[in-house]
Amino acid sequence: MPCDRALGQPADGFVTFLGALWPEAAAQGISRATFDAAFAGLTPDPRVLAAMQRAPEYGKPFGAYVESIVSPSRIGVGMRKMAQWVDTLRAAEKRYGVPDAMVVSIWGVESSFGDSTDRWDIFRCIATLAQAKIQAPYFHDELISALKILRSGRIARQQLLGSYAGAMGQTQFMPSSYLKYAVDFDGDGRADIWTSVPDVLGSIANYLQNYGWQPDLPWGFEVLAPRAFDYRVSRGSFRDWAARGFERLDGGRLPDNGDAILFFPSGAPGPTFLVTQNFVVLKTYNNSDAYALAVAHLADRLRGGSPFRTAWPLNDFQPSRAARIALQKKLAAMGYKVTDFDGHLDFDLRDDIRKLQQSYGMIPDGHPGRAFFQRLGLSAS
Ligand code: CA
Repeated sequence: MPCDRALGQPADGFVTFLGALWPEAAAQGISRATFDAAFAGLTPDPRVLAAMQRAPEYGKPFGAYVESIVSPSRIGVGMRKMAQWVDTLRAAEKRYGVPDAMVVSIWGVESSFGDSTDRWDIFRCIATLAQAKIQAPYFHDELISALKILRSGRIARQQLLGSYAGAMGQTQFMPSSYLKYAVDFDGDGRADIWTSVPDVLGSIANYLQNYGWQPDLPWGFEVLAPRAFDYRVSRGSFRDWAARGFERLDGGRLPDNGDAILFFPSGAPGPTFLVTQNFVVLKTYNNSDAYALAVAHLADRLRGGSPFRTAWPLNDFQPSRAARIALQKKLAAMGYKVTDFDGHLDFDLRDDIRKLQQSYGMIPDGHPGRAFFQRLGLSAS
């Protein structure tokens, strides 16, 4: 079966799609030669759409996800990489203010320190997603950005490889992120996030700095809550939290400076964290609390830190993506401010969930559990 029929498009759908794209690309300064170099002989790839549908779910238990990412082998390899690239990491920290372990952690999670190789042609997979209007206009815009990378002439056409969803190289940057944040950190004149480790490390640090990473601010800590406290209070300075009786579980002191949010990823019975704005910055790399916590924890472990002390709940309930979206719609209908309807729960929304939990007589921990969904008349799966 021809690919384009498998997509449910007319046989000439892709030609029509490219025909409509060309004037727009030309208006953005893309030459016909660049456009043809990108798309000559290309057909849509139905495997890309199938892979998108299998994309990782949100509903996985938090602890199992964190432990799969922060594995002994990833910690071991990461420590060796930190030693191997110590000078580059020091230079990146000096320039961008992001600690070595955090940069290496993201490198390790995104591409297993460059071991996972990209297999998908960027133009083919992004054009397939753009033509199918997945998350429109997101992939359409990324396609224009990919053309701009090719136009620069610094990266060869055949080097433009990525994941099926268009994330490229050892940093897993989308084309628009490459244009904004990739840096030439080894000084050879091109930002090569596919094969140059210095460029990879510098680009990750530059990305985080641009999203507001604050030097000398920790991402947060696993904490022990006092016996009694007001669950409704979710914000404060570290000094406030110390005064309220919260303690770090690794034995260190809470810092004198900085603000933190009280976060229960699996509800009140599970591990408890105080997280800072730098934790929120980690979520710009991948908008998931589980991702941010895994990356942050791996960074601690690369510095010799200990595993989390509190056990994850055996029935670690996490609502599915569909359930989160339904919850967002419900909260918006109830008059709460909801900033996206993609299923991401930010800390403001968790505060609103606390208010509702309080009014329902539940522990206001900001974690929407099964009973909370039931009370709202929503399915949690
Ligand atoms: Ca370079």
